[in-house]
Amino acid sequence: MTNPPVCDYEGSDYQTSFWDKGGREYEDRTEAIAIKRLLPKSGRILLELGAGAGRNTPRYVGFERVVLLDYSRTQLEQAQQRLGNSDKYIYVAADAYRLPFVDGLFDAATMIRVLHHMADAPKALGQVKNVLEANGIFILEFANKQNLKSILRYLLGKQKWSPFTLEPVEFVELNFDFHPNAVRNWLEELSFTIEKALAVSHFRVGFLKRIIPTSILVFLDSLFQWTGAFWQFTPSVFMKARVAQNGILHHGQDNILSYFKCPDCAHSPLAEKHDYLECTNCKKKWEVKEGIYDFREALKG
Ligand SMILES: [Zn+2]
Repeated sequence: MTNPPVCDYEGSDYQTSFWDKGGREYEDRTEAIAIKRLLPKSGRILLELGAGAGRNTPRYVGFERVVLLDYSRTQLEQAQQRLGNSDKYIYVAADAYRLPFVDGLFDAATMIRVLHHMADAPKALGQVKNVLEANGIFILEFANKQNLKSILRYLLGKQKWSPFTLEPVEFVELNFDFHPNAVRNWLEELSFTIEKALAVSHFRVGFLKRIIPTSILVFLDSLFQWTGAFWQFTPSVFMKARVAQNGILHHGQDNILSYFKCPDCAHSPLAEKHDYLECTNCKKKWEVKEGIYDFREALKG
């Protein structure tokens, strides 16, 4: 089975260079507001897809457990340092196109700044749908190709691609912007119901961020986020989607081992060995090392 290429942040200092020192306080704070508005206050177990170094994870405080999933092991190690060791957090290195979880496990999932790197977005969204239970909530953020800047550039003839058409635009290798209606269609084809949409980061403009205090821009953005229900022209859009009621209902097991399935053959449960989990069906071994479950590639031998 072939899978789309994966954007890998292994060994990256993304957290430091992009967030901590990159002048992204405005983006970070407007995201926090959007999450607070969309996510249920409490819940059982949340899947954070593309958790990276755990920047958003403390915002899921109302959930009993959070599974942090990222393709990069070094990003998860940074998250471990940030969040500390606790039963509340489970760290999983895996490919979003082959999730290693049993169907219907989670009552919520978030995917923020991740679809942006998905060459096959519908495939990744389908994986999320499978692991959510009936009525489960999915908070999805994506980069919007139909933003004011791209519309202006297109109208002035400075940009070839149209911001108004449904197909994604890959502006740098493995960096995609999407049309809101395309994302809406994909979610609805998977029988999600979209309950809310927020337009976020209205003022992501270099000179505004330099001359106006961040807290004022954040306040103004928070006033305008609601307009996302009617139109979306901001560079970032959040959607809250709900799985249909007739989906799988969670079986209520607390044992972490029961969460996993083999990402290759879908068999579960896996057998717990000293430093790996073994699939009793296809015999593949999946490493467990220093608190990180690694489902990217099976161990050799
Ligand atoms: Zn297997």
